[in-house]
Amino acid sequence: MNNTVICPGSFDPVTLGHVDIIKRASKMFDKVIVAVLVNMSKTPSFTIDERIGFLKKAVGDIENVEIVGFSGLLADYAKERGAKAVVKGLRAMSDFEYEFQMALTNKKLNPELDTVFLTTDSQYMYLSSSMVKQIASLGGDISYFVPACIHEQVFERLKITETRKDLSK
Ligand code: ADP
Repeated sequence: MNNTVICPGSFDPVTLGHVDIIKRASKMFDKVIVAVLVNMSKTPSFTIDERIGFLKKAVGDIENVEIVGFSGLLADYAKERGAKAVVKGLRAMSDFEYEFQMALTNKKLNPELDTVFLTTDSQYMYLSSSMVKQIASLGGDISYFVPACIHEQVFERLKITETRKDLSK
């Protein structure tokens, strides 16, 4: 049976919340494609290559996990890759309405495609990439929130970006 699933996201940057979901999905399904959004409505802080690079360091050693850049419709990409479900993490109730809408839309566009929600680990309930960026830009310690193997790289890069922004004011 084909048990390929897709974990889509901007991963700008990947957090321990994302890693937890990807690891758990990798134990439940034969193959997990981590699809990193190339075109985002908001300009990302990290380039597509940086975001993919961070993910490769964080979860690239898991045998059944593939990390790819992706643009276009998720419903089409899933069909192209033969994936039968989208796996998403659910944090607070605030995630629910948007994720429910996305799941129903994807199902309409690709009736073969289901969405599976994994409840976040309680310690990551309030963790998001934007929170990581905010903390790092204020010089805070992000080591609790991003994988140890990338936290210095992420921190240095965000510090530089924020210093540039300050200088251009
Ligand atoms: P963010 O919402 O942090 O900007 P993304 O768009 O990259 O993140 O998130 C991709 C998916 O990863 C989200 O739809 C959500 O399902 C999941 N996710 C993000 N953060 C967490 C977390 N802390 N715990 C569980 N799942 C998460």
